[in-house]
Amino acid sequence: MTDLAEGDSMRCRACGNDERASEGYPCMNCGTFICVICNLRGVIRCRACTAAETPPQK
Ligand SMILES: [Zn+2]
Ligand SMILES: [Zn+2]
Repeated sequence: MTDLAEGDSMRCRACGNDERASEGYPCMNCGTFICVICNLRGVIRCRACTAAETPPQK
């Protein structure tokens, strides 16, 4: 058994995974939790802020 679950897990608002809050980053816009995995992928905003930022391509 790993000891990852220390009660500080949070739901990432970009990918939806439960990741450690202590290793995540706040959304650049609204400050909601973004996990470190998304951050490493270059995601700095939550899904809602990304959707609001990106104009509809139509
Ligand atoms: Zn994530
Ligand atoms: Zn956001």
